[in-house]
Amino acid sequence: MSTYETVKGTFDLLPPQAERIVAVREAMAAPLRRAGYGYVETPTFEATALFKRGVGESTDIVTKEMFSWTTQGGDEVTLRPEGTASTLRAVLQANMPRAGLPIKVYYSGSYYRYEKPQKGRYRHFSQVGGEAIGAEDPALDVELIVLADDAFKDLGLRNYRILLNSLGDKECRPVYRAKLQEFLRGLDLDEETRARIEINPLRVLDDKRDSVQKQLVDAPLMIDNLCDTCRAYHEEVRTLLTEAGVAFVDDPKLVRGLDYYTRTTFEFVHDGLGSQSAIGGGGRYDGLSEELGGPSLPSVGWALGVDRTALALEAEGVELSGVEPLSVFAVPLGDEARRRLFDLVTTLRRTNIAADFAYGNKGIKAAMKAADRSGARYALVLGERDIAENVIQIKELATGEQESVPLADILTIIQEKLK
Ligand code: AMP
Repeated sequence: MSTYETVKGTFDLLPPQAERIVAVREAMAAPLRRAGYGYVETPTFEATALFKRGVGESTDIVTKEMFSWTTQGGDEVTLRPEGTASTLRAVLQANMPRAGLPIKVYYSGSYYRYEKPQKGRYRHFSQVGGEAIGAEDPALDVELIVLADDAFKDLGLRNYRILLNSLGDKECRPVYRAKLQEFLRGLDLDEETRARIEINPLRVLDDKRDSVQKQLVDAPLMIDNLCDTCRAYHEEVRTLLTEAGVAFVDDPKLVRGLDYYTRTTFEFVHDGLGSQSAIGGGGRYDGLSEELGGPSLPSVGWALGVDRTALALEAEGVELSGVEPLSVFAVPLGDEARRRLFDLVTTLRRTNIAADFAYGNKGIKAAMKAADRSGARYALVLGERDIAENVIQIKELATGEQESVPLADILTIIQEKLK
């Protein structure tokens, strides 16, 4: 025990479970790489103004959930609560659009939100995200949805649904927004929700309370109020998704928490996670670049939740092959044996055989216990007498079978046994 523990809403990832997280991240990134997305890494903190502007002043993230502070030099900075604003900032800063559009990038890392901690909702969590920047093409929206679906399927996940909606564009959304506000103002709502009608009325549709949902049955929906271009775009997204064999559910009340979304919006929802059911989500954000002072760059992207996906896999009982199991555990008895076996372990590892060593000058009993605990297939035991006789003991740990083999041939013998 130490005097210190992780702060509220955060947790450590420890072996062997932590390997699952590595496997999840890797599985999420692999389909993106196959589709030409390049890895980007941005700093974990940015100017606070970037997120205020890029995520939206009316979102819960910006009003309540950011870890922000003033540096010693007087700069206002914030731990990144999401990945899109930073990624777009980086792309614009490096003038990447010069090299042609769309720019396809992906990221993987830690994100921070001051949320009320519960299972699946943390203050420090991990996401993998993909962004296709600078093209307005329904096929690009569908590409990303398919890639996320592939990632989840490759991981072995089954019990999830894809919710799909369109949020319109700068032509039809304001007209709809006004219509929705008029409808909402006539309802019986608490003060906080009434305030939300004026700032971010679409978010009211997302209210989870029954008392609110009951009143929203006849609310006007964006999907019925799309302009012709947005409608055609959305129909094309639906057609391409269907042709790709990806099942989805139309959810006209899906709005998502971030201000910058336009047109296509989607969420991956898992059925075994209780209230924190979203394992990923994203959509189109055609106006964000201009919002950040850049040129017009219609874009689409998603972020998948690594921690929640690990929980979803656990809920479905899917085992991930995480750590590479050890093949060999070496047990030296005496100084000369230690030098020789250490050299052998190094050589084994260099030939791609997972091997470990009884460090710390343990006696034979403790060392063999460590060998058993290590999960290795074979223990190699070398003592003074073995060296004198030019042999080494090889013991299959599962069966306890042991044989004495020529020391000079041990490398080939092990390679042969592991074939
Ligand atoms: P968002 O940008 O909020 O849609 O987040 C994308 C995904 O990240 C969500 O679908 C979740 O799987 C995950 N996520 C978001 N916030 C948290 C959190 N506080 N703790 C754990 N995972 C989260």
